[in-house]
Amino acid sequence: MTVIPAKLLLNWYACNGRDLPWRVKGGAHPNPYIVFVSEMMLQQTTVKTVIPYFERFMARFPTVKDLAQATEDEVFQYWQGLGYYTRARSLLYTARKVIEKYNGYFPQNIKEIAALKGFGPYSAASFAALAYNLPTTVIDGNVQRIMCRMYRLTAPLEQIQSQIRAYAEVLIDKQNAADYASAIMDLGAMICTPKKPQCPLCPWQKICLCANAADVEQIPQKSKPVKREVSGKVYIIANKKGEVYIRKRIEKGLLHGLYEFLWTEQGDLIKSATDSGLSVSHIFTHIKMMLEIMTVQIDTYDGDGIFVKPEELDIYPMSTLMRKVRMKALKK
Ligand code: SF4
Repeated sequence: MTVIPAKLLLNWYACNGRDLPWRVKGGAHPNPYIVFVSEMMLQQTTVKTVIPYFERFMARFPTVKDLAQATEDEVFQYWQGLGYYTRARSLLYTARKVIEKYNGYFPQNIKEIAALKGFGPYSAASFAALAYNLPTTVIDGNVQRIMCRMYRLTAPLEQIQSQIRAYAEVLIDKQNAADYASAIMDLGAMICTPKKPQCPLCPWQKICLCANAADVEQIPQKSKPVKREVSGKVYIIANKKGEVYIRKRIEKGLLHGLYEFLWTEQGDLIKSATDSGLSVSHIFTHIKMMLEIMTVQIDTYDGDGIFVKPEELDIYPMSTLMRKVRMKALKK
């Protein structure tokens, strides 16, 4: 009897696949907007982290029209803590585009999907499969790991991308692209994990070249990303009324549009500020940031920001780094 790997995987998924708030089993999702929001949130973020954010977001913006009518600040408020704020900006931009250009319906061909702001090759392929059952090849870190182990590809990951794609394309079930895409994600998240893969529970153990192998954790071979260390100063500027100074970041980049306390990577911005002895650190993708917290009392500050009461800071969306500064310095 011929073994069809996709069938083994789909059978396993039908019984063991995760129930997630943005998922349906047995075909494409009937609501592409739900798939869209989840795909944007899941970029560089774990399922566990995303679930509460997704639920709050969908309660506030249940349709693409609701989202398209929101302001950027509102969207940031529901996004703050998830990081990578360019995604939130793209999410809003695309929702407005879907309303204006596509009359409220997401496009259904891969070329137009891939052209939507915020979608990269992976998320476009995943959206197309999950929302429309299009037979795309969805390749992320999970799929890379599984393909390398299934076919014992031991060369460094960066050198074998085309081989991985070729194997992944052969395995996919074109009739059941949505379920297949979800199933292989779950296999990577639940069974073929980076450490201690559960080969005895794997639907592919009989055909996998690394099943139960002693060196399975060493595959795939990756080079470690180098994190740059950055240290600087952040200023809690308070006036006599106890209000603190914040500004909306206008500089282009990851944190554009978010509110922040004044900070600098180099030197001093305010010579009269006192070192509080407190500091915060935060890891961005390739940067480890450490900020010393400085305090100073000034009634006016000649900048583009505003003074606000500490208890009103919730209205102003901030990055995780700035919320750490707020908690540490103001205990709020
Ligand atoms: S048998 Fe083991 S190594 Fe192979 S795909 Fe399954 S979990 Fe991964």
